Amino acid sequence: MTAILYPGSIGRAAWPLEKRLTRCWGPDTFPDAELLLAVMTLAAVPHALAVRLAAHLTGGICLGYGSVPDLPRFESLRSLRLPVQDASWDLTPGVYDPNARRIGIGTVPSTSVSVCGHELGHACDHMDGYPSREEFWQHLQDSCRDRLMRPYRIMLAERPWSRLLNQPGSRPGTAGSCLSAGCPVKP
Ligand SMILES: [Zn+2]
Repeated sequence: MTAILYPGSIGRAAWPLEKRLTRCWGPDTFPDAELLLAVMTLAAVPHALAVRLAAHLTGGICLGYGSVPDLPRFESLRSLRLPVQDASWDLTPGVYDPNARRIGIGTVPSTSVSVCGHELGHACDHMDGYPSREEFWQHLQDSCRDRLMRPYRIMLAERPWSRLLNQPGSRPGTAGSCLSAGCPVKP
């Protein structure tokens, strides 16, 4: 466990995402469970995909305490509303910024089983040219919907994120706009 938590002690000598990762906690402290899960999620990315993500995420991956605006280089989002959901960045635990190609993962409560996995999904989507905006992706979502637990089944039925992403004014790419629409907040 310790081998993947701290720089310089990595058991996996060629862990590709290490060079992009910033750990915003003291090297002499053990991180909370949310941060531990994020590190483990990053470590579990298959090597070939991790190599591609490491090349793509030129803005880095920042893990730290609090919400998105508490993380270094995301402070400008403080007190801003999310562009899609009725919530604030101050309550949001994760973000992927496609402009900066940067992921931020915090520790505020989330309904997501993996905030880090969620944001990695946004990065993969961007890296591969937004397949989530294609019709086949919508069919894939629809085919899986009945297997999802509540509230995700209802959320997907009511507001498919891929459709939201294609609404005017909600496209990623401008400062303060949808950095990663659909990031988990309390429903
Ligand atoms: Zn999201």
